[in-house]
Amino acid sequence: MTAAWTSWSGLAESRPRQVLRPTSPAEVADAVVAARASGLRVKMPGSGHSFTDIATTDGVLLDPTGLTGLVSVDREAMTVTALAGTTLRQLNAALDVLGLALHNMGDVDPQTLAGALATGTHGSGGVTSSLSGQLSSLTLVDSSGTERSASLGEPLFDAARVGLGALGILTTVTFRVEPAFVLEADERPMSWQDVLASYDELTRSHHHVDLYWFPHTDNCLVKTDDRTLEDPAPLSRARAWVDDELLSNTVFGWVNRLTNARPSLAPRVNAISSRALSARTYRDVSHKVFVSPRRVVFREMEYSLPREVGMEALAEARRVIERRGWNITFPVEVRCTPPDEAWLSTTHDRESVYLAFHVHRDTDHRAYFEGVEEVLRAYDGRPHWGKLHTRTAADLALAYPRFGDFLAVRDELDPDRVFTNPYLERVLG
Ligand SMILES: Cc1cc2nc3c(=O)[nH]c(=O)nc-3n(C[C@H](O)[C@H](O)[C@H](O)COP(=O)(O)OP(=O)(O)OC[C@H]3O[C@@H](n4cnc5c(N)ncnc54)[C@H](O)[C@@H]3O)c2cc1C
Repeated sequence: MTAAWTSWSGLAESRPRQVLRPTSPAEVADAVVAARASGLRVKMPGSGHSFTDIATTDGVLLDPTGLTGLVSVDREAMTVTALAGTTLRQLNAALDVLGLALHNMGDVDPQTLAGALATGTHGSGGVTSSLSGQLSSLTLVDSSGTERSASLGEPLFDAARVGLGALGILTTVTFRVEPAFVLEADERPMSWQDVLASYDELTRSHHHVDLYWFPHTDNCLVKTDDRTLEDPAPLSRARAWVDDELLSNTVFGWVNRLTNARPSLAPRVNAISSRALSARTYRDVSHKVFVSPRRVVFREMEYSLPREVGMEALAEARRVIERRGWNITFPVEVRCTPPDEAWLSTTHDRESVYLAFHVHRDTDHRAYFEGVEEVLRAYDGRPHWGKLHTRTAADLALAYPRFGDFLAVRDELDPDRVFTNPYLERVLG
């Protein structure tokens, strides 16, 4: 048996029978055909940044690192096609050189394009928040080894752009892009009461809003990002190092080791660390503002809620956290997104508020996440496919109006379940 593959959080691992590193769509097709002929399952993981075991396999693991790079740029259509194993970081570097940019993205960039698409990875605000909403076409290899392409407006496209890795191996993906732009970030402390009172106004008047609430306190941090025609004015290297490396990562890592040993210190520690936050403003090319370093390894659950009940759900989650007496050091993150058309996008057909709950990687997350999940389910929440949750196919089917259509496409593209694994069996059946 080959050495294990382990996810970033350490929560998921694979012991594949074979590891292959295809370097072209044709090699992907050959690998799928050969695996199927041997009765083995196939999976291409991305960068292992999902917390669920969505990317695991006991059969043939296709290493994505050979399937990287830009394939073409169409400046008239403003689209860029890349091989699906390219990471967001690699794509952004290539777009920088071309003077182009993605409209929006999440808060880190090591994920592969296919991996981020497969789980509905999203940022906050904008006219589209998810990566799948910025896609215009894709190509995948189905379980018979046949290459299939799909573009905007086609049913296969809406199924496969958030495909959970269940429909085939994505080989190329084409994104709509924009001329490169600069974002001005403004970060400032705000009280819980002011945030609740002004969230609608904040999200109406800024392009992107990320909000962090520190459990056991009334303290929040609000980050707004707005497009500007000004030149970049990044933080000085010293300030960036102190804030983003030392305080947000190194000191936060120590804090978590301390609170893991003495959980009852969490409220006091949160009160001190949230009061220590100071306002700052900076400007930089878009992807450098969207992304922050994340070196403290954690576990996460994130749910999307209908926009109109999102903040009520946050307030209810707070009440449950306080009633149950859990000691939580990680802030709760709040983002909002416009609707998407992808059938299994967590923001499918509705504007959404996302609430994300984290604990340190050495902390048992179960009581906290399951307790809060009960609240979020009651508000018609949908779990992020790459983050921890306990939902199953039977109840997820009720959360997605096109769930049955997705299963029908899966039956057509993968009738023998060559691409399945225990996670997909749980969430899709
Ligand atoms: C520190 C951190 C920060 C994060 N920030 C955000 C955020 O801001 N917003 C957000 O929404 N999520 C966020 N996530 C979650 C993350 O974006 C998703 O879990 C994403 O799917 C991870 O991408 P990956 O490349 O690591 O894929 P993996 O987790 O390795 O795989 C995910 C799925 O993609 C499939 N896949 C990969 N390649 C292919 C392919 N070629 N064809 C078909 N299927 C494929 C895999 O089989 C699997 O089903 C974060 C996670 C971490 C650890």
